[in-house]
Amino acid sequence: MGEHSEDWISGKFILSILEEFGEHIDWIWEIFKRNHIPVIEKNKNYSIPFCLQLIDLLKEHSGPNTIFKLGYETAKIYKIPMEYNQFKTPHEIFPFFNLAYTLNVQSDSNPNYYHYEVINTKTGLFRSHTPFHCEFEKGFIYGILNLYFAIDYQNHSIEHSPQLACRNFGNLYCNYLISWN
Ligand SMILES: [Zn+2]
Repeated sequence: MGEHSEDWISGKFILSILEEFGEHIDWIWEIFKRNHIPVIEKNKNYSIPFCLQLIDLLKEHSGPNTIFKLGYETAKIYKIPMEYNQFKTPHEIFPFFNLAYTLNVQSDSNPNYYHYEVINTKTGLFRSHTPFHCEFEKGFIYGILNLYFAIDYQNHSIEHSPQLACRNFGNLYCNYLISWN
C-alpha cells in the first residue's frame, strides 16, 4: 500500500494533537530540535513519512504509552462525517473510517485503508492498512470508544497479536479485535 506517502497532514492538525500534552509539551520540542526536525508550522502540510518520524522519536524517548496517548488525542480532534454522528454503537462508526480519513488527511487517492467486520453484538474486527504504529491505532480506537460511546477503560478490550495479524510480524495489515460491554 505505497499510496500513503502521497497523503498529507496539516501542521494545524499535528499541533492540535501535540498541544493536548499541555504544559508538559516542552520536552517534545526539545526532542524534535535535537533531532533536527524543523519547527512545525500551522499552515504547512507534512507527509505521512514525516509524521511517522515524529511518532518514532516520541516512542524512542518516551515509550509506547505516549504513542497510545497520541492516538487518543487524535481521536479527540478527528473529524467524523457529520451526517453520521448519531451512532448508537461502535459497529456503526467504524465502517466510516475510510470516509473520515478524507476529512482529516489530504489524499490524492481514494483511501481504502480500513475494513470492519461485525463479529457479534459487542465485538468487531477492525483491520488497518495505514502505516501508523499499532500503539497509536489502539489509542485512537480506544479514543473513539471512549469519546463517542462513553466506554471506559475497564469496559473494553482491544486485542492485538501476531496471531490476529500485525504489520510488525510480516502481515500487510494489523487486525484489532475490539470488544466492549
Ligand atoms: Zn500491529
